[in-house]
Amino acid sequence: MRQLVWTFWRYVWAFPVTLLGLPFIPLTLLTGGGVRLERGVLEVYGGAARFFLRHGLLIHAQAMCLGHIILGQERDSLELARDHEHVHVRQCERWGVFIIPAYVLSSWWAWRSGKNFYYDNRFEREAYGWDNNPRS
Ligand SMILES: [Zn+2]
Repeated sequence: MRQLVWTFWRYVWAFPVTLLGLPFIPLTLLTGGGVRLERGVLEVYGGAARFFLRHGLLIHAQAMCLGHIILGQERDSLELARDHEHVHVRQCERWGVFIIPAYVLSSWWAWRSGKNFYYDNRFEREAYGWDNNPRS
């Protein structure tokens, strides 16, 4: 019972971020993409999700986590990105809606320090497993 309550809480806490991903479900389904459930997370791929990942961000991303929704360019690319994106899912469960300003601040801080705004963002470093193994 305690585990069930904790799981419920993690979904509720991350829900403001998940909300940002919800519009992609109908948009992607209406534009030829798909949706599937993997490891407790909805994966939305192809169609509008692919268009957004290619043209709507500062980087060309294969996948992106929005709470308990992961957007992917292709169904297959999600296989490769899943472990990385699930680190972000855990981060959303830990930080809730505060992940958004914290992520932006971390990118800004990296950029201000002369580093890469994406690869040196603390959340990306954790997702790539570079916290203990510095990027060369
Ligand atoms: Zn990432």
